[in-house]
Amino acid sequence: RLRSRSPARKTINQSINPFTNKQYSNKYRKLREEREKLPIFDALPQFDKMFNKNQVVILQGETGSGKTTQIPQYILEKGYAKGKLVACTQPRRVAAMSVAKRVAEEMDVELGQQVGYSIRFEECAGPNTLLKYLTDGMLLREAMTDPTLDKYGVIILDEAHERTLSTDILFGLLKEVLQKRKDLKVVVMSATLDTEKFLGYFKNAPLLTVPGRLYPVELFYTEFPEEDYLWATVRTVMQIHAFEEPGDILVFLTGEEEIESTCDSIRKEAARYKDNVGKLSVIPLYSSLPPAMQQKIFEPAPEVNSNGIPGRKCILSTNIAETSLTIDGIVFVIDSGLSKQKCYNPRMRVESLLVSPISRASAKQRAGRAGRTRPGKCYRLYTEKSYKRELVESTAPEILRSNLANVVLQLKILGIENLVDFDFIDPPSPETMMRALETLHYLRALDDEGELTEEGRLMSEFPLDPELSKLLIISPKYSCGEEMLNLVAMLTSPNPFLRPRDHEDAADKAKSKFVNKDGDHITLINAYQGFENEGRQPYWCSKNFLNPRTMRGAAEIRDQLVVKMNKLDIPIISNKHNISENIRKCIISGFFMQVVHKEKANFYMTLKEKQHVALHPSTGVMRPDWAVYHEYVLTSKKYIRIVSSINPEWLIEIAPQYFDLSHFPDTNGKKLLQEIIDGKNTQK
Ligand code: ADP
Ligand code: MG
Repeated sequence: RLRSRSPARKTINQSINPFTNKQYSNKYRKLREEREKLPIFDALPQFDKMFNKNQVVILQGETGSGKTTQIPQYILEKGYAKGKLVACTQPRRVAAMSVAKRVAEEMDVELGQQVGYSIRFEECAGPNTLLKYLTDGMLLREAMTDPTLDKYGVIILDEAHERTLSTDILFGLLKEVLQKRKDLKVVVMSATLDTEKFLGYFKNAPLLTVPGRLYPVELFYTEFPEEDYLWATVRTVMQIHAFEEPGDILVFLTGEEEIESTCDSIRKEAARYKDNVGKLSVIPLYSSLPPAMQQKIFEPAPEVNSNGIPGRKCILSTNIAETSLTIDGIVFVIDSGLSKQKCYNPRMRVESLLVSPISRASAKQRAGRAGRTRPGKCYRLYTEKSYKRELVESTAPEILRSNLANVVLQLKILGIENLVDFDFIDPPSPETMMRALETLHYLRALDDEGELTEEGRLMSEFPLDPELSKLLIISPKYSCGEEMLNLVAMLTSPNPFLRPRDHEDAADKAKSKFVNKDGDHITLINAYQGFENEGRQPYWCSKNFLNPRTMRGAAEIRDQLVVKMNKLDIPIISNKHNISENIRKCIISGFFMQVVHKEKANFYMTLKEKQHVALHPSTGVMRPDWAVYHEYVLTSKKYIRIVSSINPEWLIEIAPQYFDLSHFPDTNGKKLLQEIIDGKNTQK
């Protein structure tokens, strides 16, 4: 036979890349050799058989076995998408970008051409794209305009064990789409966790397990609970670096700020050792890091120093490195035992990110990162007793810990009318569902019959929570379009205000230029406007103690929002007259459910839930009687963060549907609101 049957064989044997019709580069050949050593490689024939016989296949394999990088490529090379696209979802933006880049290299094509990615506020794909890595949230968005996801021939739900909210919803959606589209195939990929759940959900799907290579990992616990786990981290890194054999270090911490500050501390410590120890390259990894910086984790460790001691890489990461990204060469893992986790209290209606203890399943995954290439060591910065007694076996899926307003809105757009019948893999509590419907009704996204309104449709167009979309949609009414764009971009970004240790005063002084006594929202707007007025200069940011990366990110988000506003024909109108009042009124249109009244001196209470809260120390407002807030922060104390003062009359004027006081518990706040309503009635 002259023609080879499968394009895959052709790619192996010939020197022309069928995707580009160009000669393969040498780099391609080198990467090809590496790929063939991955555990997944030997399982491909078996995968092929299963894939061809079934509509859904479940694939489980140890992290780093090659699932994410190899399976989509294999499907593509075999032509199994039949002229349509292959999608591979990732819960994390960083993973989607980084893996797409890697796979483009492996396929010897340019990123954004045959292989691309799509994440919120950034699309790097085009008409030539055949394989797209995208966040699960983005695929869900695509489903809103294309409910049967018609342009895809194969959809791979990766990192399914993470059980993110969007992946869970995609499970339910795809189950329906699979009925309608017999040509569609789905692959569910997961680390070796929780696979029974998926088998029970997709009843006839076969399971393929890729055996991993995992070397033994020696575990160390602290003898007593650590009081300062960041300092313990620095100490442990330095001990490993000074006394242990070569091998890179991976540290699990909770977020950007502490990762950056701990990186600094480690660098300072390492500098004191001079050439008595090897070179140490300290690298942060978290989701808001720009792509070029993310790539650093894959660079080789520094070379030997002048004393002939080999160098070492030390990566400080959030959960991203737990299963989404595999970094070769890690031999030592330091586990703080913590991560930032979402939690939702339906009664409070607020979702918060809380630094919480991880599960035992996570702790095992983290430890496993040390044993990929040879036996490793894992230092747990907690006691063995707390591992056994205080950590839960596994974390509840995100859907049980989330505010579902956004999801319910999306499902409505997808035409799923009866949410009770939706096939959730783990159904959320009825209370959470009710709260979501209620919230959407108060926001006027749903009418009294529970049908979508025009406003609801507009809200769903923005990749934002409905409260935030509402601010943009309603901004023409209050002539504050530019301001709301600034605000929403800033609220969608991490905290931009830097306050480095030993420079607190200078930082506070810099911030004071932006501070507005009416509210922190306006402070954010001012900071952004300053950035814009100075031509978006990073230098200006640093001078003003604003995080330049955050500001640039916010600018990119803002640009995207402007495009969306134009597309939806929402005029961007701004008028400086009465602007502070108008801004705050506009904010109330979306956030009337997040209002507090000062019941006593510095003793605030939320109106409907009767929760005591305190103003966060970062706030710039002077203890107003009434306030709207953006965030509820639960630490040792209950705080509200990003707070603006308001006039209670605005509440009655803007959100009468919500302030039906017969449903409110008795508080002084309620009494005052009642007086306002009564006053209005007698005036009539
Ligand atoms: P899995 O999905 O099973 O966890 P992956 O396909 O992500 O495995 O990883 C397979 C291999 O590819 C790993 O050895 C990993 O280190 C490597 N790899 C993935 N992305 C990159 C990258 N951007 N640079 C270098 N190596 C990478
Ligand atoms: Mg993977």
